[in-house]
Amino acid sequence: MKVKNPRTGQYYYEIYPPSAQELKSKTDAMRHAQIAWQNGGIEFRIKALQAWKEVVIEHKEELIDALCMDTGRKWETLLEVDLVASSIDRWSNISSVFFSNTERKTSSIPFLEIEQGLEPYPLVGVISPWNFPLLLSLIDTIPALMAGCTVIVKPSEVTPRFIEVIQKTINQVPDLLNVINYVEGGGEVGSELCKLTDIICFTGSTATGKKVYQAACDNFIPVFLELGGKDAVIVTETADIERATSAILWGSVANAGQSCLSIERIYVQRSIFNQFLSRLVGKANQLNLAYPTMDSGQIGPIISEKQVAIIDHQLEDAFKKGATLKAGVTKCEELGGGFYCRPTVLTNVNHDMKVMTEETFGPILPVMMYSTVEEAITLANGTQYGLSGAVFAGSEEEAMKIARQMKCGAVSINDAALTAVMHEGEKNSFKMSGIGGTRMGPSAIKRFMKQKAYLINSQGVKDPWWFA
Ligand code: NAD
Repeated sequence: MKVKNPRTGQYYYEIYPPSAQELKSKTDAMRHAQIAWQNGGIEFRIKALQAWKEVVIEHKEELIDALCMDTGRKWETLLEVDLVASSIDRWSNISSVFFSNTERKTSSIPFLEIEQGLEPYPLVGVISPWNFPLLLSLIDTIPALMAGCTVIVKPSEVTPRFIEVIQKTINQVPDLLNVINYVEGGGEVGSELCKLTDIICFTGSTATGKKVYQAACDNFIPVFLELGGKDAVIVTETADIERATSAILWGSVANAGQSCLSIERIYVQRSIFNQFLSRLVGKANQLNLAYPTMDSGQIGPIISEKQVAIIDHQLEDAFKKGATLKAGVTKCEELGGGFYCRPTVLTNVNHDMKVMTEETFGPILPVMMYSTVEEAITLANGTQYGLSGAVFAGSEEEAMKIARQMKCGAVSINDAALTAVMHEGEKNSFKMSGIGGTRMGPSAIKRFMKQKAYLINSQGVKDPWWFA
């Protein structure tokens, strides 16, 4: 499979997806390795992952280079690579506490006691997207490894260059041999993994998520789906406009809007609408494209060409239906063979437009006026998605009252897109944004283990319900 450079539009790399037979041999070897990985215990697993962390740090520059080439952006990549080490450290601490808590408990029946066992799923399949190639390939992988599972990871075929580097770091830690493996490939390899693994963690679009759900159903395995979003922000008349516009701009256009948790709809109370809009437009116009170099500005290229077509289509649809351009562009610009989209502010938008109801995954900020808070909440809840959202209001109490009525998994209060940086709050994805237990917070590790109860007659007492 050929891979394109998002800054030049040129094919510049190739990947070689494994055959079904090669995948089967690999997963057989991993199932075999899992026994020792599980039996080694948590301290052994922490030691192995800490050793891996050191090797990853040694190869940091190589990893950054590969990721920058595939994504065409820099500062987001530096953040992504740094998160690997902090994530291994965080999960080392959480897992150590989690596994130390296995004492026997009494039950409601006086002579019976309970010991709670946990059995890891032997082989976890992770399928990840292109927008944060490294981070999203590891977000479920690290807790799964800590739980005692082995993990086979298939990142997106759009951004696969880092796979060779990360696999090289894994190969340098003997205890991780066949415990974690990365494989290259597209949808076929992903779909094959749904047949070969015991649990699937999928991050990607809602459309593909449905296919994965179906495949997991045929194989009768659990699935965790983290899918698309259309995050809304509500700004009330009491909000600090200066603060709200800065935070919302960051939450909408960081990584050129290519984040599931980007703010994609902005609802602003009528009395502050004009003031809000003029500050937002002023700030949006100050941002620059990261072109001709990655350091030239804040807005990098649109990484996947498929996404360029979606953004252009939504803009065209919005203008056809009456939207007004206040800042930015009417379509993505082609520069040096890559595609870029300036922060684009739209008004006169409504829910008949795709830009207000379908995921855009680009730096587009449609701003809609509302009169009552009830109306704003109805609009915010008015899409098929329910990933996250945000509220800006003059007091925390006012913001919380609104946040409690928003149908989504996480709400940033007087801030925006906080799930990008804060991985400790436990949350589910609502509606078509996903299914399955929380991937954030300490209880995320439980997803990778079956609970098993040992019911012990510790006193040798004859049970009263036995036949006489
Ligand atoms: P995608 O659905 O096109 O692809 C995701 C992954 O699925 C890729 O690795 C792809 O090769 C694989 N795949 C494709 N067909 C498959 C099949 N039939 N069976 C198994 N795997 C298959 O998504 P994308 O375009 O790479 O990523 C963008 C999407 O990801 C957006 O919708 C975004 O919102 C979503 N996303 C969600 C989160 C989240 O946490 N909720 C995070 C990041 C991105």
